[in-house]
Amino acid sequence: MKTKYLCPHCKNTLSIEDNVILVAKTKSNTKGLVILHTELGNYSSKTNEDFKLNSKEETEFYCPICSNNLEHKTKKDLVSLVYIDENNKESTVVFSKTYKKDCTYHIVDKQIFTYGENAKKFRDPEWFL
Ligand SMILES: [Zn+2]
Repeated sequence: MKTKYLCPHCKNTLSIEDNVILVAKTKSNTKGLVILHTELGNYSSKTNEDFKLNSKEETEFYCPICSNNLEHKTKKDLVSLVYIDENNKESTVVFSKTYKKDCTYHIVDKQIFTYGENAKKFRDPEWFL
């Protein structure tokens, strides 16, 4: 079984092969589609030519299916998605709303795995408990 990402609200699949497809809204209120890489710690991303994300700027992310905001329920500077691994086990992937911050957490039961150069210095490793 392949890994996939789900919306935490509607539980629909947001990934197609290696791409996670989200709706993004910038501070200036422009909206567009963003494609992120499914591999944890891979920060390549794609947008169309007339929609660009600004580095260091906080961006809101929404589910393209149910339109709910994907922000973490308590940590408002983070985005939270449901991750299903190859054994069909559910966990949580959380990443920074700030484009180019390169900061991802994978939370499996009570364990946390960090990816990206900013993840470790960004917070107390116990923040999710
Ligand atoms: Zn949804």
